[in-house]
Amino acid sequence: MKRRERQKRDAPVGPEVHPVKVPDLVAWLEKLKEERPEDLDRIEETLDILADYEAERDTDSLDAEVEQVNPRLLVCAKCRQKVLPGDVCCRGCGRRLVWNLRGGMR
Ligand SMILES: [Zn+2]
Repeated sequence: MKRRERQKRDAPVGPEVHPVKVPDLVAWLEKLKEERPEDLDRIEETLDILADYEAERDTDSLDAEVEQVNPRLLVCAKCRQKVLPGDVCCRGCGRRLVWNLRGGMR
């Protein structure tokens, strides 16, 4: 138990990788609707949550933060393409740039 707790605390911060893919989960839930009509409300609710989650992820993938590597170099955080002040979209990956500058040293 102690060991497990420590592993959890030391785990790298970042998006967790889930073994189940959302489309698979949605397909399974759609099938479950027919098999378990008594749980229809709960299944619909879960599908709603998944749809919201997917929508949010889509928006997220269209945006890229601008990162300041040094005082004279700004790059797209997603593809590392050089970005010029005033750019709206990245020239490398085409994502919409989010000008929310943080220190670039990571
Ligand atoms: Zn980019």
